Parts: sequence; structure tokens; C-alpha cells
Amino acid sequence: MTVTSGTSRADDRSATSELLVVDDLRTHFHIAAGAVKAVDGVSFTLKRGKTLGVVGESGSGKTVLSRSIMGLNIASNARSTGSVRYEGQELIGRTPKQMRQFWGAEMSMVFQDPMTSLNPVVKVGRQLTEHVRHHFNIGKAEARTAAIELLRSVRIPEPEKRFDNYPHEMSGGMRQRVCIAIALACSPKLLFADEPTTALDVTVQHQILNLLAQQQSERHMTMILVTHDLGVVATRADEIAVMYAGKIVEKAPTATLFSEMRHPYTQSLLWSIPKTNQPKHTRLSAIAGRPPDLINPPPGCSFAPRCPYAQASCIEEEPQLRTDGDTDHQFACHIPVGTPANSEAFERNMAAGLPQTLTAAGKMAAREDVVPDYAAIGAETNVDERAVAEGMSTTLRDHGNTGGG
Ligand code: SF4
Repeated sequence: MTVTSGTSRADDRSATSELLVVDDLRTHFHIAAGAVKAVDGVSFTLKRGKTLGVVGESGSGKTVLSRSIMGLNIASNARSTGSVRYEGQELIGRTPKQMRQFWGAEMSMVFQDPMTSLNPVVKVGRQLTEHVRHHFNIGKAEARTAAIELLRSVRIPEPEKRFDNYPHEMSGGMRQRVCIAIALACSPKLLFADEPTTALDVTVQHQILNLLAQQQSERHMTMILVTHDLGVVATRADEIAVMYAGKIVEKAPTATLFSEMRHPYTQSLLWSIPKTNQPKHTRLSAIAGRPPDLINPPPGCSFAPRCPYAQASCIEEEPQLRTDGDTDHQFACHIPVGTPANSEAFERNMAAGLPQTLTAAGKMAAREDVVPDYAAIGAETNVDERAVAEGMSTTLRDHGNTGGG
């Protein structure tokens, strides 16, 4: 039985073959008002050992995408079409019973809120051993040993003692570590981490992200990291896919995305990251407007009502993913950021006093980093040490669990 590091995956360590190929995946939820197109034609390929960051606002389709790949959208009104090939095997069209052979040992998920993903009236040890015993058909004593080893591997202090804790007896960070231990129990090849740090405070977020990176490296896993925060994936993903209205609107290797972003929505997400060098009481930047109606999306580009560069052509024709020479960098925009046409469109909209353009102008005036500094974002989101109180000498170091995380 393997519950810790994935030595059985030694061959995968050097492998660069494709683990997952998603082609034109669509997941629609049929309700009385029509079909909610939560995922609408998503395609990408993920190689073994790599991390794909999937980024977007709430409602952009990123969580439904993960669940569609894992076959977890079991609502009777959900329909998934297209193709998801995992190690060459087609997953779309399989029943939950057929998918069970993939859950745990092949792919697993860490959910957003550890309090709701753990059973509050069952001790964490039992929740872990049930999982392990179910998959490996082993006895209680052996499962207990394996579970304690798992808790140790995710840096839970005194795992023998914590084994008998209920979830409410643990901090939020520790509960998330237990969820990670459960997700890793069967050594999956593909791990989905769906907003794994959203419910946690910032220092614990950092510890959990480092833990995931460490486990990914030790177990040679492939990972899909889902988040609304570009800063989270800035230094942790090999490639980033930005989703809007159920579609990928920009996809590129991480460094390329930050240094040469083309889509205005990606730019708006970047502007919305709070910066530590901002003056105190600076208002947080929000993206103007609301996400579109996924039943009746606006004509043409679905970002047009919120885009500071929108022109008539944007409403007339829906932009398709295309490249600009670099085949690894795809974006769906008629007037991409960084082009003369984009600057001209902005000036035209400014002159017309369009509200979303004025809002964008305010953000530009407030910041010097209209062209983002990728290295700075990485530095801000990937520090090993953070001061926790000004004027005090206390610091948190990420060399182990502090007890709170
Ligand atoms: Fe903005 Fe037009 Fe590009 Fe859509 S196609 S993101 S509206 S510039």
C-alpha cells in the first residue's frame, strides 16, 4: 500500500507525456429559464508533473470545469459533452459508478472550505481510515498507521493525538491539511486544488500552498490549481488559463502571461490584486460591472460590457482563441492589450466618457504597474518569511507547522 511519497511513479518523473487532454468540453445546467452554459467549449492539454493554474472570478466556470473533468457534476440537469481523455481513456459519458475507479487513486480534489468538506461529527482519524480502508481493503490497525503517517506527511503536529480530534477541535489551516491528507491518501496522479486557501488567513494560505507544492514534488503529481487570485498562481503554476463566462479567454506559460498579457480581463484581474506598497486606506480595485448572464450572454465578446477598450467590432463578432506568433500564448480578443489599436480604442472611449473606461483610467492613474511586474508579484506572494506585527520581532517561518496552520 502506498500512502506517502510516490516512489512507484519514478518513471513519471522524467515523463513529459500528456496526462490529460480536454477537448471542447461543455457543461450546461438545464433550468426552467434555459441552459446555463457554465463551461462552454474549453480545450487544453496537461503534461505529467505540470501545474495548470485556472483563474477567474466567481461564476467564470473554473470550479465546474474541475468537477466536469472528475465527473462530479451529478445533478440530473447537468449535461457534459466534448471529450476528456485521461491517460488516453475517455471520461465523458461514464457513470459515477464507472468513475469511481478513477477517484482517489488516479485523481482527487482538495475543496475550498475544509469545514464543510469534513464530517463535523466524525473524528478526523476515522474519516481518513475509512478512505484508506475503502481503497486498499486493509485492516483497522494498518489503516490507522497509514493515516497517522499521512497526517505527519502534511505536517500535522502530534498526529497520534490529532487522529482522535473532531474537525471543530482543529484550526482552519489544520483542517485543510487533513483534507489534503485525505485527497493524497491514495497517491493520485492528478490533484485538483479548488480555491484551497480561500477560507484561510494569509500566513496560513502561504503554508498550505507550500505544502501542496512540496507534496506535488515528492509524489510527482500533476496539479490543477483553481483560484480567483492571479497572485496565488504567479509563481506556482507552469501555465495559466484565464476563464470568463465559461470559456478560456487567455492561456499562456506563467511568465509569458504576466509579461505579455493580451486580454483586458486578465489585465483587470491583475489590477484587482492588492499591493503591499499601496498607501494605507487605498480602495481595493474591483472590475467594473457584473459577470454576464450565462443563459443569454451578450452578443459578440462577453466581456464587452465591462471592457475599457470595447469597440463596435467586439459586439458584432465573438472573438476566438488565437495566437500572436507564440503558439503557446492564446487569447480571445479583437483589440489585444499592448497593441496600438488597443491604445487608440482606449483614447476613443475616454473621449466618449464611457464609464468602464473612466474606471480603468482611474486604476491606471493610481498605479505605475500598468505593465505588470511579474517578479514583484511573485515576491509578494511567495515569501518564506512575513512580519506579523510591526514593531515586534516575531516572524513566521515556513519550516513546519506553527500549530495554527
Ligand atoms: Fe474587450 Fe473587444 Fe477584446 Fe472583448 S474583444 S476583451 S470587448 S477589446
